[in-house]
Parts: sequence; structure tokens; C-alpha cells
Amino acid sequence: MKTEISGRTGLYCLIGSPVGHSGSPAMHNYSFQRTGVDAVYLAFDVTLGTLPDAIRAIRTLGIRGFNITMPCKTAVMEYLDEISPAAALIGACNTVTVSPEGRLAGYNTDGIGFLQNLRCHGVEIRGRHMVMLGTGGAAMAICAQAALDGARCITICSRSPSSYRTACGIAGKLEKAAPGTEVRAVPLADREAFAREVAAADILVNGTKAGMAPLDGETLVEPSLFRPELAVADVVYNPRETRMLREAREAGCRTVVGGIGMLLWQGAEAFRLFTGKEMPVEEVQQRLFALDNPGRSLHDRGI
Ligand code: NAD
Repeated sequence: MKTEISGRTGLYCLIGSPVGHSGSPAMHNYSFQRTGVDAVYLAFDVTLGTLPDAIRAIRTLGIRGFNITMPCKTAVMEYLDEISPAAALIGACNTVTVSPEGRLAGYNTDGIGFLQNLRCHGVEIRGRHMVMLGTGGAAMAICAQAALDGARCITICSRSPSSYRTACGIAGKLEKAAPGTEVRAVPLADREAFAREVAAADILVNGTKAGMAPLDGETLVEPSLFRPELAVADVVYNPRETRMLREAREAGCRTVVGGIGMLLWQGAEAFRLFTGKEMPVEEVQQRLFALDNPGRSLHDRGI
């Protein structure tokens, strides 16, 4: 952790509520120290009601960049001067850079982080068919980035009639933004259609809360759908191995990818946007994410 703070030390932060559990401060502070950036990173509890004051404070105090978590990821967009194509498509930002002139530029690094993590496991999205479970924020971020990065086909699977309508809306939006990608919506309740999509796919992703504590015994996929060449990935990182991933591994799937790498790589992309430098990802992974509680190990080791 940084010990020498001067009058020139820069400030970056996370805003949202709650933020106390976040691994971002540990990840960024460690990386500032390792890459010689004179800055610190703090977390501020900001609700939708206090967001306008927080943005004013960020501009006034010259905070150099910030990450945004729930519930402010969408609301923050009305304060931005520039929005990246992926963030505009997703309708949410998780990273904002602040120029020396005070211009706020918004990005969404969740999809980039997920796809980079897949790449680290030997899977490229370009030209591939991905089946996505869920229509929430993480699922949308991944689908939008996958479409922009040249996925051949994306199937969005929804749990309820209202989320099926959401999935159809997302499909239309993505096809317009990325005409080379075919995007289909399938209700999960139609198990035959779902099985057909998975049989035709290269990558299956859980983008829902199923599998996350306290839903950690839950899965939306029957093990009979797994086959060795299907890459299976989860956005959930608590627990590190969800029931879906365990069953995929036991069924012989060769590529089984947990959500912790997405968390790490979305942070690495934010760090690059903030500083222009590469986060020492492997070191951060070993030192911060070695335990089951992201962000705790660094503190526990007194670093
Ligand atoms: P969200 O609220 O926007 O979306 C939640 C999704 O989960 C929706 O599709 C919803 O229908 C579904 N869902 C809710 N309860 C469910 C249940 N009981 N069974 C099955 N599906 C259920 O949330 P989000 O921000 O998209 O987060 C979704 C998951 O992704 C969370 O587990 C979150 O921790 C994880 N996430 C991980 C990362 C990462 O970096 N690894 C980043 C963002 C989100």
C-alpha cells in the first residue's frame, strides 16, 4: 500500500452502494505501487440520490478517474461528455476517465474483461456462436462486446416472459449495431430450443445470479448438454467454481472458465484507461485473489 502521499498524489475512486466489499481499491492501489504511479484509490458510498453531488465533487476536486458499481452504472451516463460505443450500446458505464480539462469519458470494461479472460483460456469470440443465460447488466455487457468483436451468432436465453421481451429488444439492438452477428432470443422454458442452441454453440455462458451464494446450489443447465468441445464460462466468482462449472468439468468439458478472471481483466482494462499502463495482472491475481474473499488477502498480508 502507498505510504508516501504528497501534494501531487492523484486520486481515483469507486462510487456506488454498497462498496465496502469491493476488491477494486486493493487491485488498483497495488498496481499503482507496482507501476510507479503516484496515486491512490478509495471507495465512496454513493447512492442514486447523492450521485449529482458526487459528480460535482469529482469535477471540483480534480479526481482523475472513477469506477462505478450498482446502482449508479446507468444513471452516471447523463453526466458524461463522451461515451464509448460499447457503453452506449450496453446503456451502462463502469469506468470514467477525467481529462485535465475536466471532461468525463465513459466506458464499460465488463465485456472486454470477460472476453480477455476467455482469450486467456484459448477461446476467441470472433466467428463463434455464444449462448448467454440471462439479460441483466453483466450479460448485456458481454453480449454487446461479443457482437462488436465479431461473434458469428449470439443466443440470449431468458427466464421469464418479461425478460424474453428484454432479450428480443437486446437482440434487435445488437443486430443493428453489429450487422455481421446473428442474435436470437430463446425462452429458457423451451428446453428443446435451448438444447438445440447449446448443441450448435461453441461457448455457453451463465450471466445470471444462479450459482452465486446464496443461490450456490443452483444451475440453469442440465449436465447432459455438456460436451468436451463446448467452452463453459460463468460470470459468478463467489464461489470460484459454481455448480454449473463443476458439472461441466465432470462432464469432460475441456475449457471451464470462472468469473474471477473477468473481475480481474475488467479492472486491468480500467487501469489501462486511467494510467495508460498495464496492470501486473498475474501478480494481482496471486496476491489479491488467492483467497476466497477478493481484496482481503492483500490486507491480511500487510502489503
Ligand atoms: P443484474 O441484476 O443486472 O442481472 C441479474 C440476472 O440474474 C438477470 O438475468 C436475472 O433474471 C437473473 N437472476 C436473478 N435471480 C436469479 C435466480 N434465482 N436464478 C436464475 N437467474 C436469476 O445483475 P448483474 O450485474 O448482471 O450480475 C449478475 C451476476 O454477474 C452476479 O452474480 C454478479 O456478481 C456477476 N458479475 C460478475 C462480474 C465479474 O467481473 N466476474 C461483473 C459483473 C457481474
